[in-house]
This record gives sequence, structure tokens and C-alpha cells, in this order.
Amino acid sequence: MKKIKHIINNQQTTGHSSNTQAVYNPATGEQTAELILGNAQDINDAVENSKQAFTSWSKTSPAKRAKVMFNMRQLLIDNANLVAETISKEHGKTHDDALGEVTRALEVVEYACGIPNKLKGDFSQDVGPKIDTHSTRQALGVVAGITPFNFPSMVPLWMIPMALACGNTFILKPSERDPSSANLIHELFAKAGLPAGVLNVVHGGKETVDAILDHKDVHAVSFVGSTPIAEYVYTRGCAAGKRVQALGGAKNHMIIMPDADLDQVADALMGAGFGSAGERCMAISIAVPVGKETADRLIEKLIPMINKMKIGPYTQKGMEMGPVITKDAQQRIKGLITQGESEGAKVVVDGRNLKIDGHENGYWVGATLLDEITPEMSVYKQEIFGPVLSVLRTETFAQAVDLINAHEYGNGTAIFTRDGDAAREFATQIQVGMVGINVPIPVPVAYHSFGGWKRSIFGAHGIYGPEAVHFYTKLKTVTTRWPTGIRVGAQFNFPTLD
Ligand code: NAD
Repeated sequence: MKKIKHIINNQQTTGHSSNTQAVYNPATGEQTAELILGNAQDINDAVENSKQAFTSWSKTSPAKRAKVMFNMRQLLIDNANLVAETISKEHGKTHDDALGEVTRALEVVEYACGIPNKLKGDFSQDVGPKIDTHSTRQALGVVAGITPFNFPSMVPLWMIPMALACGNTFILKPSERDPSSANLIHELFAKAGLPAGVLNVVHGGKETVDAILDHKDVHAVSFVGSTPIAEYVYTRGCAAGKRVQALGGAKNHMIIMPDADLDQVADALMGAGFGSAGERCMAISIAVPVGKETADRLIEKLIPMINKMKIGPYTQKGMEMGPVITKDAQQRIKGLITQGESEGAKVVVDGRNLKIDGHENGYWVGATLLDEITPEMSVYKQEIFGPVLSVLRTETFAQAVDLINAHEYGNGTAIFTRDGDAAREFATQIQVGMVGINVPIPVPVAYHSFGGWKRSIFGAHGIYGPEAVHFYTKLKTVTTRWPTGIRVGAQFNFPTLD
């Protein structure tokens, strides 16, 4: 059985713990690898090594650090199929979907290629007599990233390129459910010329996460995952004096106005609701049609489209959706559908009994459509993170907006309409971080930043883009005077620049 090990100082290592965890192919239910889990001593080894690497990496010029990113960009392009295959084998998403993940990751690497420009400071001449001020941004030191299963390549690459380009060294603790992508990313960075120790990978679960959060020499932590763990990571990391950004879960609504083109809406909902088996933090899980006629017509369009979906393993061409990540996730999602039904939701299309010939042990859940859900139901309150699209009917635009604003999550949202006034009102009033106007999955491009509101994020900074430069650096402001021939004398009052 293949063993997946930690990587410290460019060396694979089994570390100090004897704990392991099985890794599965979700399409077959077969074990594909054994993952070595780390402990506090492994994190300590990684931090010591990263600290040493920081000394020279932080002094390497931004232009030279950018060269590693340019090389990484080319390697990601050349190896896109391999990266996608590695994702799909452990995650289950289709090959084309995995290639989409690689493309979005690549954008962040490309943004990091421009780091010399982004680290340029500000300069003010003559802020006082013969006095100038300049500001620069300097690297923090050793920083860490803790990532979820659903984008095993993209989310680590939301963090690593910018953290490294800013001059930090990085420890990645990837998801234990699909860990091979992390080791492949490391391999590509090493080929790109990244010096040993600048990026280390330590696998594991809570024990390794806690060791990162408590380690005094880890200066910042980026986390992406579910809200309860995001809150935990934020609280514990901040208590240990670290800078923390922790992105959490979501429940994304799409408002469908009566004037919207319902064919476009149905296409958008199919992709945003069921793409990647609904395991995206930007998936649309709640459709909010305004008016009974809009709702009835929409459901009529969705039913045949859902029934025609091609669901199967990533190895089969032309599939639109794969399995969910684990057997536990499969049971949990089916359980939530049943709970919704018992609370009064109407199961319009039922994915609970899907079987895929030849892949009977895979973790399948068919695309499911629920209608007539209410805000009190568990299927509305909880993040299902599976292929379940629920319809919550409203009578007015104002009701739809109030509904979204009252939800505990605020990651993404969308409106479909041809009414510019409604769209503008929506974008202004909505208490959500990422908003789409006729765009179902408004994931910002790499030169903007990604981040939700409310309990979808803990911490002040979004991830990647300009926010990443601020998160991964600290500001230094230098005030300089060259008072040739002038004696200022002792000044006991608070200094002014006269
Ligand atoms: P998760 O919270 O279970 O795991 C995320 C990370 O936390 C993993 O590395 C895991 O090992 C670690 N972890 C798990 N339990 C822990 C514990 N008790 N203590 C310390 N660490 C722990 O999330 P997941 O199931 O891997 O990913 C799905 C979730 O991630 C969904 O809620 C989804 O919305 C969210 N997500 C959010 C974003 C975003 O940008 N907001 C992006 C992707 C995924």
C-alpha cells in the first residue's frame, strides 16, 4: 500500500507518530493509500527547519522569489492533467472540474509573479524640514496553512504563492481525506527551484492543527474549512498571539426575479448546485424564486435537467458529477434529506437511492431537489455540502433579501434579473462578501481577494490578491532626517515636524 509521508527540508519522512489513516477512492470505496499522521514533534521539526530557511529566503530579492513563481506557473501548466488526476482520485470530482480547480490555482501563482510591484512601499519627501518618510512591508516569518478536502490543490495554492512571494516560509497541513495533492504541489515547487525548507508539508488532523496553533514561532495561520473549526482555529490561534484568517462554511442563496431568463437560471443552478457534488463553499444550495409563477416554472425546467444528469466516476468521460468525499458524508447528506422530508420539505427529485453499475461501493448521492422549504428547517439552517438544491419560495424581493441577511453565513450569493435597479439594490443591501449579478458562482479573480462575511470568516483579511500582501507582511514606516549643519537641540515636547 502506498504511504503518504510528511515532507520536511525536501525529504519525505514518517515523523514521530505511529498513527495512520486510510485514504480512499470515493468512486470505488477502495483504499488507495495510507497516510502518516503527524504530532507536535513533527510540527516542531517543520518549524525549526522553516525558521532556518526563512533567514535566506526573506533576504532573497522579491524579483528572485518571483522567478520561482514563474517556473511554478509553467510546471502547473505542463502538469495540469497529472494534478487534476491526483485531485479526482482522492476527491472524486470529474476530470474537467479538477482542471478548472487547477486553472483557478494557476491564477494565484500568476498574481504572485508580480510580487516586486506589490511590495513596493510608499515614499513621502519633506514631511518636515529635511525629513522624509518611507514605508515598507516585511515578511512575518514562519506561517502555516490548514486546508479543507474540497479543493485539495486550489486552496493550498490560494495561500502558498503569496505567502512565499512575500518572503515567508510556509508549513502546509492539508486535509487528511485527499492529501496526495499537497505532496505533488511540494514536488512541483521543488522543481521550480524553491530552496529546501521554504515549504514543508505535515499531514494529520487535530493534533497537528493544535501544535501549529500553539507553536510560538508560527506567526500567522491561514485556515479554510467548516465554520466550527474556523472559529476554533481563530480563537486558539489569536490567544497564542498569532495573526489568523479563518474562512468557514456557507449557505449560498440565489434570488430569481420574475423577469429573469429562466433557461439561463436553470443552467446556472444546475452547475452551481450540483457541480463538484455540491461540495463547494460557493455552491448555490438555496434557490429563492420571487413569486409563485417563477417558482413553478423554474421547478418544471429543473426536473428533467436533473434526471438527465450524468453521474459517475472521473475515469469515465463526459460525467457531470462524481461521488461525495466519504461514506460518512454520504450517510450525513442522505440523513439530512430524510430529516428535511420529515420537517415538511417536498422531495421533488430524490437522490438517496442512486446506484452506479460497477461502482456499487462508491459514495454516491444523486442530485436532489427539495421544494417548499422554510427557514426553520434543518436543511435550510445547516450547510449540507452535498448535491442538494432547495427551493425557498418568497413573495417579494424585500423578503428574499431579508432572508439572506438573517442567515448566519455570508459567503456568496447571486441574483438573476434583467432589472438593473433590483440588481443594484441587491448588491448594496446584501450582507454577503461575494455577490454575483447574473453570475452564479462569483469567485473573485486572483487580483481581487476572496472572503465572506458573518460566520463565513473570522479575521480581518480575505484570502489571496491584495489582502494577502497585507496578511502575510507587516508594515514598517521609516522617518529619516539628514540635518547637515543643523543642531535641533533636546526636545521635550511630543515631536512635531516643524
Ligand atoms: P473541516 O473543517 O472538517 O476541515 C478543515 C481542516 O481542519 C482540515 O485540514 C482538518 O484536518 C482540520 N480539522 C478538522 N477537524 C478539526 C478539529 N477538530 N480541530 C482542528 N482541526 C481540525 O472542513 P472540510 O470538511 O475539510 O471542508 C469542507 C468545509 O470547508 C465546508 O464547510 C466548506 O464550506 C468549507 N470551505 C470554505 C471555503 C471558504 O473559502 N470559505 C472554501 C472551501 C471550503
